[in-house]
Amino acid sequence: MIAKKTLKMSLKSLREFARKKLPDETLIELDERDECPLEIVRQMCSPDKLGIQLLFIPEEYGGLGGGAFDVYCICEEMARIDLGIATAVLATFLGSDPITVGATPEQKKLWLTRIAEEGLLFAYGATEPNAGSDLASLETTADRVMDRGRIVGYKINGSKQWISNGGVADAFTILANTPAGPSWFIVEKGTPGFQHDEPEDKHGIRLSNTAALSLNDVCVDADRLVGGVEGQGLNQAQAVFGYTRLMVAAFGLGGGWSALDRAIPYSTKRIQAGGPLSEKQGYTHKLIVPNVARLEAGRAFIEETAERIDAGEGSLNTEGAIAKYMCTEAGNLAADASIQALGGYGYTHEYMVEKIKRDVRITTIYEGTSEIMEMTISRDRWQSHLKTRGQHYHERAREFEALDARHPDTGANLAALALQALAEVMERARIGRLTRHQHILLRLGEWVAYAESAGSLARRAALLAEGKLHEKANLRFDAAALAAISRIFAREAALKVATDGLRWIAGAGGVGGADIAGFETSLGLPAIHRAQAGLMADMDFVADVLFERTAKRVGQAA
Ligand SMILES: Cc1cc2nc3c(=O)[nH]c(=O)nc-3n(C[C@H](O)[C@H](O)[C@H](O)COP(=O)(O)OP(=O)(O)OC[C@H]3O[C@@H](n4cnc5c(N)ncnc54)[C@H](O)[C@@H]3O)c2cc1C
Repeated sequence: MIAKKTLKMSLKSLREFARKKLPDETLIELDERDECPLEIVRQMCSPDKLGIQLLFIPEEYGGLGGGAFDVYCICEEMARIDLGIATAVLATFLGSDPITVGATPEQKKLWLTRIAEEGLLFAYGATEPNAGSDLASLETTADRVMDRGRIVGYKINGSKQWISNGGVADAFTILANTPAGPSWFIVEKGTPGFQHDEPEDKHGIRLSNTAALSLNDVCVDADRLVGGVEGQGLNQAQAVFGYTRLMVAAFGLGGGWSALDRAIPYSTKRIQAGGPLSEKQGYTHKLIVPNVARLEAGRAFIEETAERIDAGEGSLNTEGAIAKYMCTEAGNLAADASIQALGGYGYTHEYMVEKIKRDVRITTIYEGTSEIMEMTISRDRWQSHLKTRGQHYHERAREFEALDARHPDTGANLAALALQALAEVMERARIGRLTRHQHILLRLGEWVAYAESAGSLARRAALLAEGKLHEKANLRFDAAALAAISRIFAREAALKVATDGLRWIAGAGGVGGADIAGFETSLGLPAIHRAQAGLMADMDFVADVLFERTAKRVGQAA
């Protein structure tokens, strides 16, 4: 982890670099020309210019050794600038990941030092035309090259699809099947038989180079096998999912907020029907406030997960998946709402929200799609439900009831209602064996993500009130505002889990007839409905904060 001061300096340098080199007009032009500004990407990753890649590299190899929290802060900032450029930097991080987690000490020294000192750009070659979400169906092969009974190298054949930096990287990590299973190989640009296609013509992130790769009898020495042992590839990829998914979560957050941060000031100046749009509740409470609540719930989950990873709790893959799912879905909704918030202007290139919406769209697709996230989350928490005989979320709910006793205004009681409902839905799913329906399994993933994020946000609102939030935590909102945001989100989460849960459990035949009323009660639906009281006042208050009208109403919202 780096010092708070160093992180602040890095963020400031990043902002200044973007202000000088990537003003809106430049971004719009590059987007229109569908061009990756390679020179700028190289400057960002160059040790004697911005050197942003140093943050991701451990100190022993010449980097700054940033932790998960630092990486989240930088990724959010990069996404606020441009998600295509952020993707180019992410690709170097992803590409070097198998090396960071699985390489031999010699390989780490060679490659990580080269990234730190030479600003080497990497690409991460996992996806194939027939192996996307299901990487196990990988077709690229790496055959052993033998000399006197010893493995001296590998001959790689196959193709890779949708590789970020594919046409511009200096080195690539390529996943290929060896006789002992999937393994990562380091392949340098220009190796005979290794080629990339023309850049893809994409919907968004048009400043990022994405290209297919082909490998025809590409020969590499044995020391290019990451870790020196075959068959470790999928484990090495898994080992950092928590971390890398946090990065993409931060992209969703940064993308969503950068769109809202254009819509919010716009609405204070745009006069319609005699007053600014920002004064119209039907506008703010539909297009702005709910998106802020969802994004901040996602942020709470990222920040908690980053703290836990930095504290050594492991790679936290499920938590990374929840953070990615919440933030990227919220980022998409926020960007879409921002187009609506700008009306016809929002639909043009000039006002940027249209570009942001196209850019942020990728975040629910790469590094594991939202549906794969739902599956990952659901499978893990389903096990927790079974192992604890249905008590897992009841216990979590009790923790939030206890938090509510200490901090009654943070929405902890509402988070408890969401978790309680989740426990009941899961139990009905177990009794009716409903996870045989894949749709129920994936919906459970969504409800888990909502209920747990409501808990994270309530916890963070309480920590902020106590002045105990992480020193690098985002402080855009004060304690009263974060508590109101938490209440808004937790009401949505509780209602979603209970009503969607009821809908799908009934829809799959898990409950019916006279049983429905009993299920409604066990879900806590009457309490969840009663808990919607105060929603409008909370939304009014958050709108006041966002539009800097707090003085008028702060007392009302306390
Ligand atoms: C711009 C861009 C950059 C990328 N960069 C990289 C990179 O640098 N390196 C790299 O290796 N890859 C990269 N990717 C690939 C990306 O990770 C994959 O596109 C993604 O994992 C999905 O794989 P797929 O496209 O084959 O879709 P598929 O796996 O075919 O999925 C299609 C749809 O089906 C759903 N689906 C899939 N399986 C299931 C299931 N079992 N149950 C229910 N629904 C399912 C998915 O959620 C999705 O909605 C990039 C992709 C893009 C578009």
